[in-house]
Amino acid sequence: MFSGGCYCGNIRYEMATEPTVVHCHCNNCKRSVGSSFVSWAVIPLKDLKQIGEQPTIHVTDEKVERGFCSKCGSSISYFQRDGESIDITVGTMDDPSSVKPSKHIWDRKRIHWIKMDDGLPHFSEWSAGSEPIE
Ligand SMILES: [Zn+2]
Ligand SMILES: [Zn+2]
Repeated sequence: MFSGGCYCGNIRYEMATEPTVVHCHCNNCKRSVGSSFVSWAVIPLKDLKQIGEQPTIHVTDEKVERGFCSKCGSSISYFQRDGESIDITVGTMDDPSSVKPSKHIWDRKRIHWIKMDDGLPHFSEWSAGSEPIE
């Protein structure tokens, strides 16, 4: 069982399948979450069970819905409208060590002092349809 929730416990979730984990270095994720990069647990929307309160949604100018807890401020989710999957912040999972990262995306926006010697592929921007740069 892959589960988690926000800092205050108002929002809880369970995942029915093991998520794919992606490290995103884009500036929007940095700004939204307030972290130097963001690890996302990606799962099919149908496999996410939300318990308790629904996240408050910030709709960005790119039509992305970023969910957060209105009580404690934890960043919870990233959802592209009409998408079939949803991304959940790995940092809110009960056991982040239970999932395995698969790649880095938006490496061209990576903060230069972040060095990742983890052997994972790095993609300049989105990974779909492109080759890793290292
Ligand atoms: Zn909360
Ligand atoms: Zn991002």
